[in-house]
Order: sequence, then structure tokens, then C-alpha cells
Amino acid sequence: MCSTSDIEIWTWSELRAESSRRSIERLVAAGGLERLRRGVYATPTACADAREAASHGGSLGCESAARHLGLWVLDTGDAHVWMRGHRHHQGDDASGCHCIRHWDDGPSASTFELPSVPRILLQIYRCRGTEAFFVALESARRLGLLSTAGLRWLRGVIDQAGQDLIDFSRADADSGLESLVRLRLRPFGWDVRTQCRIVGTGRVDLLVDGWLIIETDGRDNHDESSFRHRDLTRDANSASWGHVSLRFDYALVLHDWDLAERAIVATMSLRP
Ligand SMILES: [Zn+2]
Ligand SMILES: [Zn+2]
Ligand SMILES: [Zn+2]
Repeated sequence: MCSTSDIEIWTWSELRAESSRRSIERLVAAGGLERLRRGVYATPTACADAREAASHGGSLGCESAARHLGLWVLDTGDAHVWMRGHRHHQGDDASGCHCIRHWDDGPSASTFELPSVPRILLQIYRCRGTEAFFVALESARRLGLLSTAGLRWLRGVIDQAGQDLIDFSRADADSGLESLVRLRLRPFGWDVRTQCRIVGTGRVDLLVDGWLIIETDGRDNHDESSFRHRDLTRDANSASWGHVSLRFDYALVLHDWDLAERAIVATMSLRP
């Protein structure tokens, strides 16, 4: 999540609604406000991504907004900018700019306010596809950022495939990797349970047909040898109870899924 949750970027007229011309100019002179471009000001601590979006003429949108809010995203590092329906794309070289612009119109209380979480999810669905949408959706549900009314709005504006993903989503997914693996195993028709406890091992990420354990290790927390020992102990324990374990890290799930899937399918064919 971004360290600055407030956006802290305003237009000149938004600033003028709150304070006098003199005091704004004094604040700029003292370094408490910076001019991003003509008529747009930010505090020095304002979110760097939001400042960049503002310099392109909009606010954070889509995956960039989701990342700012701390949602799990299939990060590509692109700048997604919400232009609403009517903004002008700005910048030194606006014609050759690589920012990804979103032109869907929607309500916003101020010029650089983020889209609502349901709108962010809709933008991700249309811009980045089903998998990126699904992990962000489960992350938003897990973090309690999607109200019942918001979910209803999203269901009303999204297409049938999106509605199907909403039905399949849960509010207790532990990580984006887990969400992604569950979604990718869906076509196989296995019974995939998440976060269930099994005897001798405790809580596991995914349990397929009550037999195969799949653990998805996050980005940074499995380098230390103490973690490695803990994982090996878990695997030995579950094997002694007749389970088989497969363990995939971020790189395998994101960049070498074919291999991971072949491992799962081959292992499932050995099921007693
Ligand atoms: Zn986008
Ligand atoms: Zn941010
Ligand atoms: Zn741009």
C-alpha cells in the first residue's frame, strides 16, 4: 500500500476555495506546495504515482489506483490514468506518451480523486483482463474495500463473464497467488478448498480433491532457512498422513505456469 493514502494534489481553484491567493503563494515559496504543471499543485509528500498521473492530466486509475490502495495486482508497472470523459492528456510529449488512459466517466468529488473501488475493478476488467480483475476483486473483498452496494453496482455494469467471476470470488483469499491458482484450476473441475486445516499439518493454502496440497509462497518471505525448515517439516507431516504437496512461488505461477500446471495434472493422475 502507498504510504500516503490522501492524494494531496489540487487545482489552483480548489486551493483558492480554501485559502487566499497570498497564503497559497507563501506556501509555494516555503516549499510546502509544489507546482506540478500550470494550475496544479501537490504537497512534497504526495504519492509519486498520483503526481505522475496528475502531470498527465488525470488521477490514478485501474491497476495504478489498485496498487495505491494496497490491492494485490498483477503488476506490470504501467501508469494507468483516469481521464474521466473530458480531460485533456497533458505532458511534455503527450502524443508519444506510454501512459494507459481510461476515458470512462464517473463521479469524483475533486479533480484528482481516485475512482471508486468498484470502478477501479471495472477498469481493470476491461483493460487488463479476467485474471488481473479476479485477483484484485478477491483482494478488495478480503480487505473489506468493496461494499455490498459497490458489488451490486459492479455486477450491474459488468458483462456476463465478469458476473461469473464475481460469483466465483470469495472474501477470504489469502493472497493473489492463491486467487490466481484457484481460478486457473477451475476448468479441471476438481474440488478445490482454500485455507482449510488438515490433520498433522494445519492450515494449507489449497487442497485439491481432499488429497493434493498446493502451497503458494509469496514474493519475499521464504528465503530464510528457518522458513525452509518449517516448510519441509510441514511437507513431511502431510506426507505421513497420505497427502502429497506441491509448492509454487511467485515466479512459477506468474512466469512458468505451464510447468506448474503440468506438475499438478501429472500429480493428480497418480491419486490413489
Ligand atoms: Zn488500465
Ligand atoms: Zn500511491
Ligand atoms: Zn500520458
